[in-house]
Parts: sequence; structure tokens; C-alpha cells
Amino acid sequence: MSERAPAEVTEVLVVGGGQAGIAASEHLSARGIPHVVLERDRIAERWRTARWDSLVANGPAWHDRFPGLTFDDVDPDEFAPKERVAAYFEAYAEKFGLPIRTGVEVLSVRRTEGRGGFTAETTAGTFEARYVIAATGAFQLPSIPPLVAEGAGVVQIHSSEYRNPRQLPAGAVLVVGAGSSGVQIAQELRASGREVFLAVGPHDRPPQRYRNRSFVWWLGTLGLWEKSTPAAGAEHVTIAVSGANGGRTIDFRELAAAGITLVGRASSCENGVMRFGADLADNIRRGDANYLSILDEADAYVARTGIDLPEEPAARELGPLPECATEPLLELDLAAAGVTSIVWATGFRADYGWLPAGALDERGLPRHERGVSAEPGVYFLGLPWQSHRGSSFIWGVWHDAKFIADKIEIQRSYLAYRGNSVPRGSGRGAVATAVAEAVRDPEPASV
Ligand SMILES: Cc1cc2nc3c(=O)[nH]c(=O)nc-3n(C[C@H](O)[C@H](O)[C@H](O)COP(=O)(O)OP(=O)(O)OC[C@H]3O[C@@H](n4cnc5c(N)ncnc54)[C@H](O)[C@@H]3O)c2cc1C
Repeated sequence: MSERAPAEVTEVLVVGGGQAGIAASEHLSARGIPHVVLERDRIAERWRTARWDSLVANGPAWHDRFPGLTFDDVDPDEFAPKERVAAYFEAYAEKFGLPIRTGVEVLSVRRTEGRGGFTAETTAGTFEARYVIAATGAFQLPSIPPLVAEGAGVVQIHSSEYRNPRQLPAGAVLVVGAGSSGVQIAQELRASGREVFLAVGPHDRPPQRYRNRSFVWWLGTLGLWEKSTPAAGAEHVTIAVSGANGGRTIDFRELAAAGITLVGRASSCENGVMRFGADLADNIRRGDANYLSILDEADAYVARTGIDLPEEPAARELGPLPECATEPLLELDLAAAGVTSIVWATGFRADYGWLPAGALDERGLPRHERGVSAEPGVYFLGLPWQSHRGSSFIWGVWHDAKFIADKIEIQRSYLAYRGNSVPRGSGRGAVATAVAEAVRDPEPASV
């Protein structure tokens, strides 16, 4: 029998070499904390192979980055193409000399029996670490509602598998989900000449630009990125924003005018007939309200601070709802409408099954406070609303990573303590000795 290779020992094991793992590694390095980052594919793999070809960052390059490096070949006010984002993180890892090992998948992490810390089984052998940071991201497994049976005669793909219109069979396409992904994919399909139906649920839609400032600037200035608690139900509200075509505000009236048929939330499918909720107009109005609330807050900010930004009254002219919203289609016979494919832009699920059970709740989701797990020694990064609204975005995860590295440093400083917690002159023995000495040598009486 072949001998098992000895475990590789490190202080912190970071799992995942996307932006979250890179940020963690930078902050651990800055504190001199030994660690290894294990990435199953390549650095920032999801930006390379889990996004469609034409994707660009939703926010401008001056903002959607880490503090330690600017994009060298993207104008700060432009939107970095996805390949550039991946290259950026690779350059970042190189600049800071981060200890990232690619092509190594972590299969399981369990508590090390009889000792502190954790043992990780990986495709490159066993690792032992005192701390583990799960930086595998919020966008792990495709989440597709089980509405349409497989083999129902339509091609079904998730947005993470969508690459470009040529990939889909000829015919009309139903895109389900109108967050950033669904809207951009629907627009691209429509521009390629396809007939497109877009199922629109509740969403937020900040203005891409207002009064000469990007939405990222407004969300930052108004403190909305920093918000720590989502409004009730807001965790489930997708944000529709796009850097495509130079960055335009997502406007469902404009999508309808371009020939996309908007429908409400997809609710069921029977015998090839897809049913949609009667909520389309409400969803659009709710998105409008979110959009207008940001304009209001921005205007109030300008009035309060006197900052010199040009007025933009036209931004408030929304126009009437399109007919497809006022007279919504409530069902669609897919075959009769020529729909040959469905793109599910319905989000992602977490996959933390490889972590110790104590780190997860009954649904398999992280049990944590600001990324500090209920399982001591385990930390999370990149969770939506981990500490604030920006947590799952590029700039936000960097700040969460700093917080987590601080937490680990604090724990290490306790473990580094080498005293015996019994100050000289204290403890029962010391008190008895002091009393005996006092009796032998009483203090002189005061005069
Ligand atoms: C379509 C889309 C567009 C987005 N656009 C923007 C944007 O413009 N701006 C912005 O700020 N944010 C954007 N985001 C949000 C977020 O920034 C990205 O999803 C980002 O990729 C999340 O980074 P992450 O490091 O948390 O996770 P990921 O990028 O998913 O990285 C996790 C890494 O962990 C690895 N991994 C997973 N499991 C294991 C394992 N068991 N062992 C070893 N490695 C493992 C994966 O291979 C992956 O490389 C977008 C998200 C999506 C889905």
C-alpha cells in the first residue's frame, strides 16, 4: 500500500481564488499571516468561463476594482470587459505576490480530531490549517425554478451557460428574470434579430448616470452601498444595471419599444403553456419608484451640499407604461409562439457542503455574523449583504476581507500569549505569603 503524503500545514486556508480569495490573501499577507489560497480552476475563473461573451462590468473601471491597482488599459469611466476583469485580478495577485495555487479543488474541510484547527482534503492532498476562509462566492450553482420539465421540447440554459445568440437554436427565446443578467441577455438576443419574451419580476433599477455622476458614485455618496441591513424582502430583489453599450440605465419602456415582449413572473408551465403573473405593471412601477427615489436622494444631496452638478429634469420623464405591461400576456404557448429556448436568468445557489456542518444552517446556508462563522475558526467572504450592500461586489468584498483578516489576527494574538495569567504578587499562595510577611513586619503605625 502506498504511504499517504504528510499533510501540508498552514495557518489559514483560503478556499477560492476569485476576487474574495484574492482580497483575503492581500490582507493576510499585509499582516504577515501565513496562508495558502486554493483555487480549483484559474484565478477569477468565473469571470472567464461563467459569463457571456459580451459582458462588461456593471460599474466603471475607476470604481469596480480594488484600491491597490488601477486598470491600466481601461479608461476609468469605461466598463471593463469580463476578460479584462479576470486579467486585472491575475495582475493583482502577481503585484502582491499572493500564494495562490490553481487547479486544486477543496473536497472537504473537517475539524482536526484532538487538536485545534481543520483538515482539508483536496485534489492535491491533505492540508491542515488553524483557520479556514470560504471564499467560494455567492454565485456558485445555477438556480432554476423547476417549472419546465426536461425534454419539454425547448432548450433550457442558465444565464451562466449563455455565451451569445449563435449558441441557441433558431427561433424565439424566453428569458426569465430581469436583473442585470436577464436584461442584458434579452437585449443582446433582440439586437441579433430574435423574437424575445422577458419575464420581469420585482427589481431595483438605479440610474446608470444622473447629473454627470455614475450610479456607483451616487450609491457611495448617499451611503447606500454601506447600508448594513436590507429592507424587508430586499435580499430577493434583483438589481438591474448594465455597463453594456457604454452604460445605459435599464428602462423597461425602452426594452418594449425595441420589440421585446415583457411579461410578468413565470409561475408555472403545463402542456407547453407557460403562465405569467399579473404583476408586470406593478414590478415596473416598483422599479420606477426605486429609480426615482435615487434621483430624489441625489437632488436632496446636491441641495444640502451645494455641490455643482447640472440639473437633469429629463431623467424624471418616464413616459407611459408600454402596452405589453398594461395588457399583459398571462400565458404563452411556447411551441405556437415559436419559442425554442429558455434562458433562466434566475440567480444562483450557495454550495458549502464541503464545510463542517456547524458552519451551516438547516438549509445549508452560512451561519455567521459579518462573515464570522458560528463554527469557530471558519470565516466567509463574498456573501450577499455579508456586512453591507456592497459585500458581494468587487469593491465591497475587499473591505469585508480586511475585517475578516483583522478577526483572524486578533484570534492569533490571543493564541500567541505565552504568560501564565498569574501576576506576580497575586494568587492564593502569594496572598498567604504576603499576609505572613505583613504579620512578621507590620507597617509602622502612623503618627
Ligand atoms: C453576470 C454577473 C456579472 C457581475 N458583474 C459584476 C460587476 O460588474 N461588478 C461587481 O462588482 N460585481 C459583479 N458581479 C458580482 C461579483 O463581483 C462576481 O460574481 C464575482 O465573481 C464574485 O467573486 P467571488 O470571489 O466572491 O466568487 P467567484 O468569482 O465565484 O470565485 C469563487 C472561486 O472559488 C472557486 N471554487 C469554488 N469552489 C471551490 C473549491 N471547493 N475548491 C477550490 N476552489 C473553489 C471557483 O472556481 C471560483 O474561482 C457579477 C456577478 C455576475 C453573476
